Amino acid sequence: MKIWRELIILILIFGLIWLAFTWRPLSIPGAELKLSKEREKDLAGLIMDDLQAQYEFYDDSIVSQILEPLTSRLLDSLPEPKYEYKFHLIDDSNEINAFATLDGNIYVFSGLIKFVDNPEQLAGILAHEIGHHENGDLVDRLMKELGLSVLAAVLTGGDAVMISEISKLLLSSGFDRKQEREADEFAYELMAKSSINPARLAHFFTKLKTEEKSYPDDLEIIMTHPNSKNRIEGALSYPLPKNFEEREFDLSWEDLIEDL
Ligand SMILES: [Zn+2]
Repeated sequence: MKIWRELIILILIFGLIWLAFTWRPLSIPGAELKLSKEREKDLAGLIMDDLQAQYEFYDDSIVSQILEPLTSRLLDSLPEPKYEYKFHLIDDSNEINAFATLDGNIYVFSGLIKFVDNPEQLAGILAHEIGHHENGDLVDRLMKELGLSVLAAVLTGGDAVMISEISKLLLSSGFDRKQEREADEFAYELMAKSSINPARLAHFFTKLKTEEKSYPDDLEIIMTHPNSKNRIEGALSYPLPKNFEEREFDLSWEDLIEDL
């Protein structure tokens, strides 16, 4: 009798372990498991407020002088953008970084603008960030790392600490290898369509690799993976159409960025 009792207990324990690993709450058909456009937009606004409290921003006239010539060429080559893109310029010469948040917002640090050799390199980085938006990487990442319930709570509660954490998260690298590769590939294609040679990005990655300065290796544009050697090779080997000709930006770049 005792053996039977022990056997039943054992089966029950195994059964419970099995349930613990396999049980999923029943999904309700039609339940909203996505971040709606409306919520994405609201969250983007909260992140912007948080960034504006942390950093100094250049005003729109500077953005339109420096970034607009680049972004308008890129966006003209993107006939059906998923977002209405908004570019922001942060006054921080020490940060060599750019990052995307939500709802088509892209932030560029003045440190990056001073670091690049030319506007074509900067356009390549902007194309990479547009790629993250078009590929849905931002929403995916926040949903994966925080989940819809946390995001919804942030929106209803407006928890400042949590919003600050989300901004920090987006400033750093954290996309997976596949997302980074796809954002790079998106950038090469968009650059080529915009008459900018994708090799410009290879020059930028090479410069990052060889400059003596040391950078934190978790900035969104630097990324530890895919490694820079692969990225340099990828940009250099992008198959350009036979009739491709680069059209450099007609800007006096040095003068333009002098006062940053
Ligand atoms: Zn990226």
